[in-house]
Amino acid sequence: MPHDTTSKPSAHPSTPLIRFDAVQKTFDGENLVVKDLNLTIHKGEFVTLLGPSGSGKTTCLMMLAGFEVPTNGDIFLGNQRLNSVPPHKRNFGMVFQNYALFPHMTVEENIRYPLKTRKMPAAEADRKVADILGMIKLGEFAKRRPTQLSGGQQQRVALARALVFEPQLILMDEPLGALDKQLREHMQLEIKQLHEQLGLTVVFVTHDQSEALTMSDRVAVFNDGVIQQIDTPSRLYEHPANAFVAQFIGENN
Ligand code: ADP
Repeated sequence: MPHDTTSKPSAHPSTPLIRFDAVQKTFDGENLVVKDLNLTIHKGEFVTLLGPSGSGKTTCLMMLAGFEVPTNGDIFLGNQRLNSVPPHKRNFGMVFQNYALFPHMTVEENIRYPLKTRKMPAAEADRKVADILGMIKLGEFAKRRPTQLSGGQQQRVALARALVFEPQLILMDEPLGALDKQLREHMQLEIKQLHEQLGLTVVFVTHDQSEALTMSDRVAVFNDGVIQQIDTPSRLYEHPANAFVAQFIGENN
């Protein structure tokens, strides 16, 4: 078969990392909220699940994280079937809107926590925590507690805590939803820069079209438990697959 470079979806077309294969999720025996999900995420890609509230985005992320199990179909990490692997064995970094920092620990202790649970030797952990504090520009706040930080700073700590153990995949669910517009745009840039610098693979959930289009290599547009289109931001904008995508992508832009 000829090698068709035009069909490559992004700047990171190479190695598949995650594959959803005909995944369905039903709640309470009858409420089918994810209908037939097929999606491959490549190493180094920034993929966003975008769609209106209730369209099934978070449920997909929860299945990827391991907090929900698919009713039908499979999720693979490389060749490993993930369906029933518990969250702590998946080793993914997670950042959510309510970042859930430990209030009784300092910034430094919060970031160190994932290394402690992985029993990393103290000297190596010190080095990693110092590196990430510098990278995420939190050095001067190392000894503060979360309540002594602004919302944006707290979200940076949550990001640092998700990155410090160098997970092979980062999952983010509306991580900037609680921030005001200016700070949100600033954090979008920071996350994008980290993605590029560190070669992270990111799955990001948002209902905000412009956030998805700004940040992503590819966007999966959800409606009513079904992916309507998976494509690069420019192709979604220029060649929407149907009226729903055209209308949803067009809103607020
Ligand atoms: P989104 O992230 O796009 O807003 P969700 O995945 O959170 O959508 O929700 C999709 C649908 O699944 C919603 O109707 C929601 O009420 C339902 N749902 C999500 N989690 C549960 C659950 N644990 N039990 C029952 N219904 C749920």
